[in-house]
Amino acid sequence: MARRTTVRITTEMLLIVGNSGSPRCPVCGSLMVTLDQGRMLCGAAIDRLNGWVQSGAVHHSDPTSFQNLLCLHSMLICLENENPA
Ligand SMILES: [Zn+2]
Repeated sequence: MARRTTVRITTEMLLIVGNSGSPRCPVCGSLMVTLDQGRMLCGAAIDRLNGWVQSGAVHHSDPTSFQNLLCLHSMLICLENENPA
């Protein structure tokens, strides 16, 4: 019987275009995004994002401010840790 091997290669690229005025993470200096932007970019539910923020895994701006911003870099690390290749 012939043996068949399938190799699937998946590549993904995320391009974020910002300007010098874009808010930066106070911890790591990465680009900050709103909760809605993070949900859209990571495809994660709001509850999941909030869980990451509450656990401290995702860097964020002052939660008492009008608009709480999330660190894109730490958010992507959480996503990658939950979905290893
Ligand atoms: Zn950060």
